[in-house]
Amino acid sequence: MLKQSYQLFINGEWVPSRSGQWFETVNPATEEVLAQIARGNKDDVHEAVAAARQAFTGPWSQLKPKERARLLFDLARAIEQQIEPLAHLETLDSGKPLPLARKEVLSTARYFEYYAGAADKFHGDSIPLGPDYVDFTLREPVGVTAHIVPWNMPLNMIGRSVAPALATGNTAVVKPAEQTPLTALYLADMMNDLGFPAGVYNVVTGYGEEAGGTLSTHPDIDSITFTGSVETGRRIMHAAATHIKPVVLELGGKSPNIIFADADLEIAVAEAAKGIYANSGQICSAGSRLLVEKRVKEEFVARLSQRAAQMRVGPGLDSPDMGPVVSQEQYERVLDYIQIGQQEGAALVTGGQRPAQFERGYFIAPTILDGVRPQTRVAQEEIFGPVLTVLTFEDEEEALHIANGVNYGLVAGIFTNNINHALRLATRIKAGQIYINEYFAGGEETPFGGYKQSGFGREKGLDALHNYTQVKNIAIRLR
Ligand code: NAD
Repeated sequence: MLKQSYQLFINGEWVPSRSGQWFETVNPATEEVLAQIARGNKDDVHEAVAAARQAFTGPWSQLKPKERARLLFDLARAIEQQIEPLAHLETLDSGKPLPLARKEVLSTARYFEYYAGAADKFHGDSIPLGPDYVDFTLREPVGVTAHIVPWNMPLNMIGRSVAPALATGNTAVVKPAEQTPLTALYLADMMNDLGFPAGVYNVVTGYGEEAGGTLSTHPDIDSITFTGSVETGRRIMHAAATHIKPVVLELGGKSPNIIFADADLEIAVAEAAKGIYANSGQICSAGSRLLVEKRVKEEFVARLSQRAAQMRVGPGLDSPDMGPVVSQEQYERVLDYIQIGQQEGAALVTGGQRPAQFERGYFIAPTILDGVRPQTRVAQEEIFGPVLTVLTFEDEEEALHIANGVNYGLVAGIFTNNINHALRLATRIKAGQIYINEYFAGGEETPFGGYKQSGFGREKGLDALHNYTQVKNIAIRLR
C-alpha cells in the first residue's frame, strides 16, 4: 500500500515534477523516511490549473448535477470501503492513533455523501418585482478552486472543502501539506478508478512558498480555500489580492473551554481531556485554554491531571490514546512553549517532555500548565500540541472577559447545568461555534469557521456551498 515514491497527479495521470526533484515524508513515530514525494514547482502548478480549467469548461460542466452527485456518492462509498488503507496511511504519515484516523476517514466519506446530496438541490431564487418583471438568480460554480491544506487532518480537510466544490460543479487543485501528502494522493487513484473525468481533481505536492505560493497567486484560479496558520493566511490574503480572488481562511485558534462549578464534573473532566489531547492537541478547535470557576479549580485540575497521566502515549499503529506530534519542528515548538509557560510563572502539573520509554519519535506527554495568567504568551498564542493552559475565573463576567481576550475566535466550550450561564455566554463569546456540555459537538452538517484572526468564511454544512458558487441575477422586463 505504501509506495516508495509518489508523483504528481495532474489531468488524471501520474506525472513527474518538471524539476525532477523530490522531498521526503517522515513517520513521526519512528523518524524514519516513509516515501519520496515529487516536489512540484510553478510549472507543475500551471499545468494542474490548466488541466482543472479544461475539465471545468469541458467534461465536468457537461454532467448533470445528479450525475455529479452519483460520482460523489460512489466516492463516499469507496472511501468507506477503503477505510483501512486510508487510515493506515494517515497514521503512518501524521502519527495520529489508528482509531482516530479511521474516524477521520469516515468523516471524509460523510463530507462527500453530504455534499453529493446537495449537488442537485442547491439552486437560485425567483424574486418578486411586480407584474412587469420576471427576476431570478442562478447559482453558478466559480470555476477552478485551489485548496491549500494543513497536516493535522490531511484527508479530512480535503473532504471538507473539495466535496462542496465538486458538488457545485467546480474543479480542484489541491496542495497538501508537505508533512502529510499520502492520503491526498491515494484519493486521486480512487477517483480515477471511479471514472471522475481527468482534471477534476489534481494534486500538486510540494513546499508552501513554492507550490502553494504559485497556486495562490495564479491568475487562472477562481477561489482559494486555505486552512492553516494565521501567518500563512495573511500571505494568502495578500496573494489573493493580486488578481482579486475570493478566499476562505480557516486559521488557528486558542479556544476557551469554560467549566462552571455546577457542571457535571466527571463529564467535564473527560471532555476537557478530549478537547486538548485528541490528535495530540493538533486541532484548530482544540480546547487549549481551560477556564475553571475558582471554587472547583483545585479539584478539577487534580482529576484532570490524573487522567492525563494515565493516558497511553505511543505509535499511532498501536492505537494509543495519543500519538506523537507531526514533525521535529512541531516537537521543538511545543517543548519551547512549555518552557516559556514556566518562565512566565505557570506551574507544570504533569507532562512537559517526551515520555521516558521513547528514545525517538516526536512524543510529548499530555501536559498541563496551571496558574496561567491571561496576558501571557501561553494563554494568547496557539501552541498546537498536547498542552493545556489553566486559568481561573470568579464569575460569568470574568469568564467572558478572559474568553474574548485573545486575537482568535474559532470555537468555545461551556460546561454548566445552568441554561442562563450557557446561553448568555454562548451569545456573547466571539467565536464561530459554541459547544455546550460536549466538546467538539456538531458534525459535517454544522457550519464552522472563525471570528477575528481565526479567519472568515464558513465550511461544513450548507453554508460551505456559498464559497463555491457565484450568484447571478437575471432581470427580465416583460413587454
Ligand atoms: P501552515 O500555514 O504552515 O501550512 C498550511 C498549508 O499552507 C501547507 O500546505 C503549507 O505548505 C502551505 N503554505 C505554507 N506557506 C505558504 C505560502 N507562502 N503560500 C501558500 N501556501 C503556503 O499551517 P500548518 O502548520 O500546516 O497547520 C497548522 C495550522 O493550521 C494551525 O494554526 C491550525 O490551527 C490551523 N488549522 C486550522 C483549521 C481550521 O479549520 N480553522 C484546521 C486545521 C488547521
